Amino acid sequence: MKTGLTANELDRTERRNTQIPKRSFIREKTDIEVSALPVSIQGNQYLVDFGQASHPRFHKVSKNKECSCGALYCEAIEAVCQYLQAGGLRAPDPEGMPPCPICGSKTYRDRNWDGKYTKTLGWRCEKGGLRHFLEDKAARIKKHLAENPHRVQPALGSLGVRQDQLITH
Ligand SMILES: [Zn+2]
Ligand SMILES: [Zn+2]
Repeated sequence: MKTGLTANELDRTERRNTQIPKRSFIREKTDIEVSALPVSIQGNQYLVDFGQASHPRFHKVSKNKECSCGALYCEAIEAVCQYLQAGGLRAPDPEGMPPCPICGSKTYRDRNWDGKYTKTLGWRCEKGGLRHFLEDKAARIKKHLAENPHRVQPALGSLGVRQDQLITH
């Protein structure tokens, strides 16, 4: 009767299933010195330097916790969280950004959503993300249409919004 894996086989299986951590910049403990983390402030963002051996070496994490490298769960974002938990200085808020008109939370500049023709600034809401920006934009278009019924009505599709961009969190 076969009793299952031999010790040797088990060992091999386990090793295969154990994920080797990619990098070890992030320490487990929370009582880390701020200076031990590769995080600094650059403008309104956090600059994370993972050293020359890493590609990309520099990651810029925005205040709404998005990394410039595009990875959704980038280690740089984790590093910034730890940096803040350890008492690191917060990046200054972008100047002149009014609170979110939908929920009143803080907003952050998002240049990707600057209006090319309307000359309005793109932003994301701290709580509602891009969704609140788009809700506000749609509301403004509706209001504009209501106030200017004789103008040619732009189709809502001209917002250029894809469904997947509406899902923020
Ligand atoms: Zn990154
Ligand atoms: Zn909001």
